[in-house]
Amino acid sequence: MARDITKVGVIGLGTMGAGIVEVFARNGIEVVAVEVDDEAVERGREHLDTSTGRAVARGKLSEDDQAALVSRVQFTSNLNDLKDCQLVVEAVPEHLHLKKEIFARLDQIVDEDAILATNTSSLPVTEIAVATSNPKRVVGMHFFNPAPVMQFVEVIKTVVTADDIFERVKGLAKRLGKQPVVVGDKAGFIANALLFGYLNHAVSMYESKYASREDIDAAMRLGCGYPMGPLALMDLIGLDTAYEILDTMYKQGRDRLHAPSPIIKQMVSAGLRGRKTGRGFYTYAAPGSSQVVEDAQTPRPNGERGIALRPIARVGVVGSGTMATGIVEVFAKAGYDVIYVARASTKVDSVRAALTKSLEKAVQRGKATEADRDAALAKITGSTRLDDLAEVDIVVEAVVEDLHVKQALFENLDEICKPGAILATTTSSLPVIECASATKRPQDVIGMHFFNPAQVMKLVEVVHTVSTADDVLATVQDLCVKIGKHPVTCGDRAGFIVNALLFPYLNDAVKMLEANYSTADDIDTAMKTGCSLPMGPFELLDVVGLDVALAIERELYLEFRERGYAPAPLLEHLVTAGYLGRKSSRGFRTYA
Ligand code: NAD
Repeated sequence: MARDITKVGVIGLGTMGAGIVEVFARNGIEVVAVEVDDEAVERGREHLDTSTGRAVARGKLSEDDQAALVSRVQFTSNLNDLKDCQLVVEAVPEHLHLKKEIFARLDQIVDEDAILATNTSSLPVTEIAVATSNPKRVVGMHFFNPAPVMQFVEVIKTVVTADDIFERVKGLAKRLGKQPVVVGDKAGFIANALLFGYLNHAVSMYESKYASREDIDAAMRLGCGYPMGPLALMDLIGLDTAYEILDTMYKQGRDRLHAPSPIIKQMVSAGLRGRKTGRGFYTYAAPGSSQVVEDAQTPRPNGERGIALRPIARVGVVGSGTMATGIVEVFAKAGYDVIYVARASTKVDSVRAALTKSLEKAVQRGKATEADRDAALAKITGSTRLDDLAEVDIVVEAVVEDLHVKQALFENLDEICKPGAILATTTSSLPVIECASATKRPQDVIGMHFFNPAQVMKLVEVVHTVSTADDVLATVQDLCVKIGKHPVTCGDRAGFIVNALLFPYLNDAVKMLEANYSTADDIDTAMKTGCSLPMGPFELLDVVGLDVALAIERELYLEFRERGYAPAPLLEHLVTAGYLGRKSSRGFRTYA
């Protein structure tokens, strides 16, 4: 029976290593913490002092416990001090030759029954293992950033790792309060393999000026409930580390979508490595600080850009479905006069009934007063005649997602609406330019992609085409703010920002499952616990509907012709079988 692990070593006290030291020491384990030289040792010590000091300040750790924790750590620049450690976790920079060299040396220093673990995010653990005389005792122990906070660890088992070794590492991870998932040795393991395709894609959107860094990040926070946007996350991870991870993934899988976006390498060369250097995609108050400060790329308010906005007082909404009803409510609550047009008087009545019910619910929950409710209802007029939209300042259409229907509607609106009126579509997948070119005023046409439920979701993707006038864009951005929404602006490409970033990632998760690399449960756990996403990919797919996901993925594939976007055959099969997710009681999981 192997002894409980009571003494460990950690090599490299950077972003990850310093946190890993803290995790062990917090759990009563003695730690030998190794850095390259005295200066780096001091930085590691300071990191531990600052981090535990913060915990004390927040009342999460007593001063006595902090002192005890710190006293458990022995700092050194001599690798030989690891002699008595039962486990050593290596967290030096992501370079294979460096890691192999360290493992070869460690092999000579520690006892023969000590376990050697690498915190590599992507490098082949097997190659690191064979640099030692006993590869059976080598595993990957992949912590997540920041290690003291994130409750997840991937334990990487190579083809030679002994069963008892990874079982002990799994047991230790649990003792540290982490949820371990065991996976094979494939670049990126679960979490990074799924995360980095998405991050790289976000970087290429930024690099091609498709959308600003602020908008890309806000889109994923507000549209998907992610705790952080992809570019802010790149800065946290470190661009040098991110580059190495993508590069390794690309070399192993030859997936073009993993080839690091050129700007990453340029930024690394220029020393813009993210938070740790005080500058990455954003600029920070100081190296290591999380506080973003203004820089030359910080967006200027529209007012400062000298663009005269078009006046908006009266709003038209076309449609009678969920989105149209929500949008009418949003505008009316913000004080705009709204005329909505439905195809039949029964539909006009049902929209009014839905609005009355929704506003009544808000009153009961204390979110609005009766006077607010009455004021909003008084602003709303229903009609079955498009001609009633002649005098509105903007029309937002939310009719069925069918190009022919929308184009006919835009032709009509073009004839009916007064000159200067803005014509907006809420389409989530059709090219906005197709609607614009159905009119003789393409400069006045724009996309306003609301999220469901429109009353609740803050995000609106404002989509400008090659024809959209600057003042139309500025007016709609401003209007979104006035109705309490957060606008993000992007070009007219399939998926806009959110769906274009989300669905290829969901598709990659299906491909990972299809390849039997891991299970739906472990993949969901990895993304929720390791990356703090609100739902795992399979949970989300079952909620969204597999047919809906497949349709979006097909569109992305058709537009971009990226092989990597081709829908996973497993998804196609599930849809063919009628397993559409929650709505059909079966998708990736079965529901009662
Ligand atoms: P980092 O650059 O922040 O820190 C690396 C540290 O290792 C530096 O302090 C450096 O001085 C030290 N070092 C270099 N050579 C050394 C040697 N020979 N002996 C002792 N120390 C040495 O890098 P990081 O982001 O902490 O990444 C470390 C490892 O953790 C990498 O393998 C990375 O892939 C992995 N990882 C990173 C993250 C992340 O979000 N950054 C998450 C999980 C895993």
